[in-house]
Amino acid sequence: MTIPHYVQGAWFVGALLFIFGLKGMSSPASARKGIIIAGYGMLVAIAATFLIPGLQNLGLMALALAIGGSAAWISGQKVKMTDMPQMVAIYNGMGGGAAAAIAAIEFAKGDTHSLATTVLAVIGALIGAISFTGSCVAWAKLQGVLKKAHRLPAQNAVNVVLALIAIGLGGAMVFMAPAQPELVLAFFAVSLVLGIIVTLPIGGADMPVVISLFNAFTGLAVGFEGYVLGNPSLIIAGIVVGAAGTLLTQLMAKAMNRPISNILFTPMVASGPGEAIKGSMKELSALDAAAMMRYASKVIIVPGYGMAVAHAQHKVWEMTSILEEAGVEVKFAIHPVAGRMPGHMNVLLAEAGVPYDKIFDLEEINGEFGQADVALIIGANDVVNPSARTDKTSPIYGMPILDADKAQNVIVIKRGKGTGYSGVENALFYTDNCRMLYGDAQPMAGEIIQHLKTMG
Ligand code: NDP
Repeated sequence: MTIPHYVQGAWFVGALLFIFGLKGMSSPASARKGIIIAGYGMLVAIAATFLIPGLQNLGLMALALAIGGSAAWISGQKVKMTDMPQMVAIYNGMGGGAAAAIAAIEFAKGDTHSLATTVLAVIGALIGAISFTGSCVAWAKLQGVLKKAHRLPAQNAVNVVLALIAIGLGGAMVFMAPAQPELVLAFFAVSLVLGIIVTLPIGGADMPVVISLFNAFTGLAVGFEGYVLGNPSLIIAGIVVGAAGTLLTQLMAKAMNRPISNILFTPMVASGPGEAIKGSMKELSALDAAAMMRYASKVIIVPGYGMAVAHAQHKVWEMTSILEEAGVEVKFAIHPVAGRMPGHMNVLLAEAGVPYDKIFDLEEINGEFGQADVALIIGANDVVNPSARTDKTSPIYGMPILDADKAQNVIVIKRGKGTGYSGVENALFYTDNCRMLYGDAQPMAGEIIQHLKTMG
């Protein structure tokens, strides 16, 4: 089918809008605008596709768009911030599935393509199919539908054998093009099963990294299928998503100090009983916490997953404003994997109106904990666990952490004695300079605010 120049041009404009959109997403201040720009890019690309002369099945295409568009609109309105990772997983899976479906249709048509095009179609189909089923498993795990990690005996050998079979079948499709339907079916079946088998043993704590990796896969698959269809919009969108996904995967793996191969092929378990923790957890009241901060010169707040669950960000910002009015310097310290997705804390604090110049990354703020009178930890745990520095048997050993333990006083708001996502006990909570304020983060921040108001 010949694509007219005006459609090619519109696709190119769509692709440019994706790039500008992504640029906007690189900072919390412009992220919302970036998403809207990328959305317009998608609108332009889809609208232009309908202008291709002689296009068939227009009704079916419109129906698919209506179903997909409304499902996305409704779920996007309803999703809770804490459920965002599984939503990203399922949308990402749909992208991979769509790329694999494009390839499947091309193979089903039985048209002859150049060798390069067939090879790219096969590779795109393989990684798109893996990304589709793998992302569905990731969604099921994060949503709590699949509760346990399932590991086969000789799991890694099974992964390798399945991957080799899928590659072998794909190779056969290239050399026997146009391939027989049975061969195409077998190739897709093995690729889809491979995505499930590879993802099932991976534990929930590693799942966001895996989702990001599948995101990179989806981008590549879309880019390859864009080449097959001769669609520059798909090629550029695929490359942009593939590159962003790869960089994000590397950043997250680095922040958790886990090589990607380790995440994919080794379950996250402690390699020993762990160092015995000495001391005891000591409680303090909301009044004492308020007084400690009110009469401090410098307070550093470390938010974590618990702040997100409790939706405490607005109260935390109100508390910060009161402290600042009283002359206390307050800063926010954000660990790259605090919460359950990259940028989780930045998004929540931005939503509450915390100015960006008060929010600092790990490398920027770590040197300042030594000068802080109080480190206030709100629903964070693993990201401030000093065992990551000292206990070689700990599953989080080597993960860079926020040095909250170096502050003169540490106050921790959490509901009880629950561990963090890694399931590791936190040595910080037992140290002499640490006090626990037990309760849900939101009412606790509220109580502190009430006491601060009475202190004038
Ligand atoms: P953690 O999961 O380590 O700890 C959260 C703490 O919050 C818990 O100890 C819990 O204790 C407390 N909590 C839960 N609900 C509430 C509530 N309503 N009010 C007050 N406290 C509450 O969170 P962190 O943010 O410190 O660390 C994130 C973890 O997630 C790391 O292990 C990281 O590797 C992992 N992870 C993060 C990713 C990301 O992209 N952000 C990606 C992959 C993994 P209690 O039950 O006692 O209240």
